[in-house]
Amino acid sequence: LGDIAIARYGAPYLHLHRADLQHVLAQRAQAAGADLRLGVAVARVGPDGGVQLETGEALVFDLVLAADGVRSSVRQHWFDGAAPRFTGQAAWRALVPRELAQPSPAGVTVWAGPQRHLVAYDLGPNRGLNLVAVTERSAWVEPDWRQRGDPQELRAAFADFPAAARRLLEPVADCQFWGLFDHAPLPHWVRGKIALLGDSAHPMLPFLAQGAAMAIEDAAILGLCLQADPEIETALARYQRQRRPRTARVQAVSRANAKLFHAAGLRASLQHGAIALVNHMAPGLGQARLDWVYGWRPALD
Ligand SMILES: Cc1cc2nc3c(=O)[nH]c(=O)nc-3n(C[C@H](O)[C@H](O)[C@H](O)COP(=O)(O)OP(=O)(O)OC[C@H]3O[C@@H](n4cnc5c(N)ncnc54)[C@H](O)[C@@H]3O)c2cc1C
Repeated sequence: LGDIAIARYGAPYLHLHRADLQHVLAQRAQAAGADLRLGVAVARVGPDGGVQLETGEALVFDLVLAADGVRSSVRQHWFDGAAPRFTGQAAWRALVPRELAQPSPAGVTVWAGPQRHLVAYDLGPNRGLNLVAVTERSAWVEPDWRQRGDPQELRAAFADFPAAARRLLEPVADCQFWGLFDHAPLPHWVRGKIALLGDSAHPMLPFLAQGAAMAIEDAAILGLCLQADPEIETALARYQRQRRPRTARVQAVSRANAKLFHAAGLRASLQHGAIALVNHMAPGLGQARLDWVYGWRPALD
């Protein structure tokens, strides 16, 4: 987005490696006095604030935030009981050293084709080029993102894509491959002292690139709600009321983007051509469609 992001939203559009983001968040949390305990599995939580660790240790808190991801066991146990749904989409992910991916595309580059798309962007000098390649699959694909993918299969799936895209896939020596899951918006995110946050509350397809952004927004609003109201129950009710409509909209648009990215034939030519034309002729106009996403500011309603 370059200058457009700064002009429209007063901030640059940045790409971060997940580990770098976690590092920054962990540092700030510890500086604020948080006691971080890593590598500890939680066995059970309860609406009374009870938390039982796999080690057997039992703890009690005023508030339990279940940020346990798309396959949240807390959501399944205490909220709707339903597993996330397989979306019929699966992703390969690979990091390619910058020197092997020349010429490196500027900014975020997306190549879209029937039932597939490929996204490439640079994560900085020490991280390399991030590649996410999505394909439609009618058969079930396991949800674990750590599963090994086959680089040959990845290249074969995009063999008819433009040379610039294929060139980036050539050096891929190692990749992951896993199924993408989402979930219909939940009616409730709060039960007693438990509140869901992030993917546990609103699992979504990554086709608006907003999953982690929504988790951070959740945290910002929850913080404001807790500051504004000494009663945790009231603060949590306000948090759910404020966050649910926005995240439900992002979930819906992310799902709809699958159709847009993976369109075929005349429909694809018309849709993709119109987007390219607007972006070229009037970049600000095209971007205005996404002002509701990027122009958001953390404030209480
Ligand atoms: C291909 C792809 C591309 C994406 N691109 C973007 C993007 O560009 N921008 C963006 O904003 N988002 C993006 N996302 C979405 C983003 O990755 C997620 O929305 C984000 O990771 C959600 O964060 P979370 O903390 O809620 O859950 P997670 O990141 O899934 O973290 C949950 C954590 O809880 C832990 N956990 C689970 N159960 C337990 C337990 N019982 N005890 C202890 N720990 C437990 C897990 O180990 C995990 O560490 C993308 C996703 C995919 C799949």
